[in-house]
Amino acid sequence: PDEPEVEALQHADVARLLPVPAAESDKYRRGVVGIAAGSARYPGAAVLAVAGALRGGAGAVRYVGPAAQAVIARFPETLVSDRGPKHAGRVQAWVVGPGAGDDAATVAEVLAADVPVLIDADGLRLAEASAVRGRRAPTLMTPHAGEAAALLGVERGEVEGGRLDAVRELAGRYGAAVLLKGSTTLVVGAGAGAGAGARAGVGGGGGPVRVNPTGTSWLATAGSGDVLSGLGGSLLAAGLSAVDAGSAAAYLHGLAGRFAADGAPVGARDVAEAVAGAWRSVVRG
Ligand code: AMP
Ligand code: MG
Repeated sequence: PDEPEVEALQHADVARLLPVPAAESDKYRRGVVGIAAGSARYPGAAVLAVAGALRGGAGAVRYVGPAAQAVIARFPETLVSDRGPKHAGRVQAWVVGPGAGDDAATVAEVLAADVPVLIDADGLRLAEASAVRGRRAPTLMTPHAGEAAALLGVERGEVEGGRLDAVRELAGRYGAAVLLKGSTTLVVGAGAGAGAGARAGVGGGGGPVRVNPTGTSWLATAGSGDVLSGLGGSLLAAGLSAVDAGSAAAYLHGLAGRFAADGAPVGARDVAEAVAGAWRSVVRG
């Protein structure tokens, strides 16, 4: 049977994905998301990823990295650790990469964890392809067009001129779900492998490409992607599949951008703060 090549994400579908804590739930059952992000140079990326993660449905957010003081000052509810990801304590899903600079060792340590991982920003550049392909737990990669082009070894314009092909090709090459950011964000499940199937479109194994309709160009602002990464990681920790976590994160993030902006410029922090309102609007239909 022919499955559609692309499908638009819809309010009702996203509503069904969003986790609601059961009456007997506790913070561990809701999920703990680990954030390995930020650097001395880019501490703000860590703060923004944590800001997204706190609004994403996990029961706790754990931060590891050099920006712990900045994170705690802004979000005292964060669990911080000055040890590496391997020794951080319980984590049900990781976000790695935003503002990470050149810390390849941390990226490798996160990729070795047997839990879902979202890879963004510097993490995409630092991750060994073989380490991504070799993972057993789900992986979600969240490049923008420039990052996708670097991963594919092509010019940015080639990705921009063929976004459907690019997102499928990445999913196939890396065996990962991929969220390709941009004016319309595309999300696809993990491809079956490199090459023909993925390039032919359908049959790449990742299912149809989901198109997010909620974005707004006000989201084209520094740090906005860091918020998205935290949001997606939190949804992974809450138990969503990689493609569903990416889909719900993109949908909520776009809506939050619209609500926060409401026709005027906003910063990434404003977007993070608008996620709860976006969530309510999705759930209430
Ligand atoms: P990053 O490039 O990592 O900072 O991420 C930017 C975020 O803003 C992504 O979620 C993009 O999808 C979103 N974004 C950037 N430009 C636009 C645009 N023109 N329209 C809608 N969303 C955008
Ligand atoms: Mg980014």
